[in-house]
Amino acid sequence: MRVAVFTGPGKPIAIECVADPQPGRDELLVKICRCGICGSDVSMTSEGPFSYPIGCRLGHEYSGEVVEVGRDVTAMKVGDRVACLPILGCGKCDGCRGGNAIFCTAIKSLSGGFGEYISVPPRAAVLLPQSLSLADGALIEPMACGLHALRMAGMRGGERILVLGAGTMALSIVYWARVLGAGKIVALSRSAHRRDIVLAMGADAVHAFDTDDPKSLAEALGGLPDIVAECIGKQGQLNNAIDHVRPQGTVIAMGMCSQGEPIVAARCTFKEVRMLFPLGYTVGEFAETANAFDSGRVRPELMVSDVIPLEDLPATLEKLRAGAKSLKIHVDPSLSGPGRG
Ligand SMILES: [Zn+2]
Ligand SMILES: [Zn+2]
Repeated sequence: MRVAVFTGPGKPIAIECVADPQPGRDELLVKICRCGICGSDVSMTSEGPFSYPIGCRLGHEYSGEVVEVGRDVTAMKVGDRVACLPILGCGKCDGCRGGNAIFCTAIKSLSGGFGEYISVPPRAAVLLPQSLSLADGALIEPMACGLHALRMAGMRGGERILVLGAGTMALSIVYWARVLGAGKIVALSRSAHRRDIVLAMGADAVHAFDTDDPKSLAEALGGLPDIVAECIGKQGQLNNAIDHVRPQGTVIAMGMCSQGEPIVAARCTFKEVRMLFPLGYTVGEFAETANAFDSGRVRPELMVSDVIPLEDLPATLEKLRAGAKSLKIHVDPSLSGPGRG
C-alpha cells in the first residue's frame, strides 16, 4: 500500500510503497477514506524548532471503514465506519488516567492517515453516527480541539468571545462556543471569503482584521471579550489577544506559533490576564465531538475546501509551506493508485 512518510525538515514528503498492515488479534484493519491536512503537518515538516521524527508516517485527522477484525475483537465489525484517535496511551500513567493520552509517558503514535490502510486497536476508534459522512468523521480530530480549549477556559455559557482568525482552529472555537452557549461570538479575519463558513459555524459577526476599530468590535460583542482565542499562530498575535481581552479575561493560544514573541508581564498583570495553551483533547472529548456533529445543525464537512489524491499531497504541502491559503484539504487515497496489494 501507499503511505506518506516524513523525510526531513523542509524536504518534500515521500509517498512510499510499504507492506500492508496485518491486524493483530485485538486490532482492526481500517481502510482510510479521508485524512485532513493539519497546520502542524505544514509547520512540523518545515525547518524550525519543532519537527516530527524523520521516517514517521504522517496524517492524524482520519476516518475510514473497518475491512478486517482480529479474532479477539468484539466491539467492532467489518463495515463499521470509524474516526481514529491518532495517539494511543498506556491507560495507566498519570496523563492517561486524567484522560490526556497526549501526556502519556509511553505514548504510541497512530499517525499514518495519509495512507491506504492502518491497523488500530478498537479503543482508538470511534464509531461514526449514521448521520455523519466520512468527511465529517475526519473533522472530529481537529474540531475536538475547540471543545478542549473552551473547557480549559472554564466556559459556562453567556460569554463574549472574540476569535482571531478564520482557519480550522478558529472554526473549532466558533463551533463549540456556540454549542456551549456563548453570548456573542465575533471572528476577526483577513479573508472575506471565509465569512460564510464562519457564520455557518455559529459566529454572530465577522469583522475585517485590518480595519476593525475596537469600538465597533465592543459594540458587536456587547462589551469587551471575556475570552479571546488566538487562532492565527503568527508573531504578535498573542499580544494582540492580550490587548483585546477584558480585565480578568482569558486568552487561549490555539495558533501554536513556533516563533518567540515578547510578553510584558506587567501589562498582563495590570489586566490580570489568564493565558492558556491547550493541546489536543481528551478521549472523551473526541467522542463528544462525534455526538455533537450527530445532533447539531451544522454539517462540518462544509469546511472541506479541496479533496486531493494521495499523490498530490507532497506538492500540496510544498504550496502550503510557501504560504498558500486553504481551509481544510482532505486526502482521499481512493482517488488514485493501485490500492491494497
Ligand atoms: Zn492536527
Ligand atoms: Zn499512559
